[in-house]
Amino acid sequence: MLRSQGPGPAAVGMHREGTHREGNGHALHAPVLVLNASYEPINVCAARRAIVLVLKGVAMTEEENGHFLHAARLAIRVPSVIRLLEYRRIPHQTRALSRKNILLRDRNTCQYCAEVLPSSELTLDHVVPRSRGGASTWENLVACCHSCNRQKGNQFPVEADMKLMREPRAFNLHTSRHIMRLMGRSDDKWRKYLFY
Ligand SMILES: [Zn+2]
Repeated sequence: MLRSQGPGPAAVGMHREGTHREGNGHALHAPVLVLNASYEPINVCAARRAIVLVLKGVAMTEEENGHFLHAARLAIRVPSVIRLLEYRRIPHQTRALSRKNILLRDRNTCQYCAEVLPSSELTLDHVVPRSRGGASTWENLVACCHSCNRQKGNQFPVEADMKLMREPRAFNLHTSRHIMRLMGRSDDKWRKYLFY
């Protein structure tokens, strides 16, 4: 959903309001909260994508983050919160099954030893090993550190004397909202849309 092609980072420069620091591509990746037309928070996307949605007339900026994006002779205020102009019905389960979304669901926490690690230091573990018929599904994939992954090998958790922190579930809107709240906890501009 909301898939669109943004301008490449090389095509645009960015600076913080009041300064002239160009080429700060980092701000293009700043998270932007996406609200449905009804103001219900539904997603988080990168600033670059949010700007494309605003330029296409699909969404409007509700809050700005204080940065400007310079493209050609335009200076665009970078949003912090956008709202879709047309209401979108959000199916109960919107997230695609992917490594990124499994790590997001498990909050980058090894589901066996509870260690929080950067994505690059985590792997996906099939709870029921693939070699023993385990499927690649939300319910059978968990974030796992390399050391736990080696220890578990091709065994069921119980055989390896390991225990899951919690039952893996599909990533639904409830989970997404929980993550949006975690992300928005320190952001005043997000808070009013997320905590009600
Ligand atoms: Zn571990």
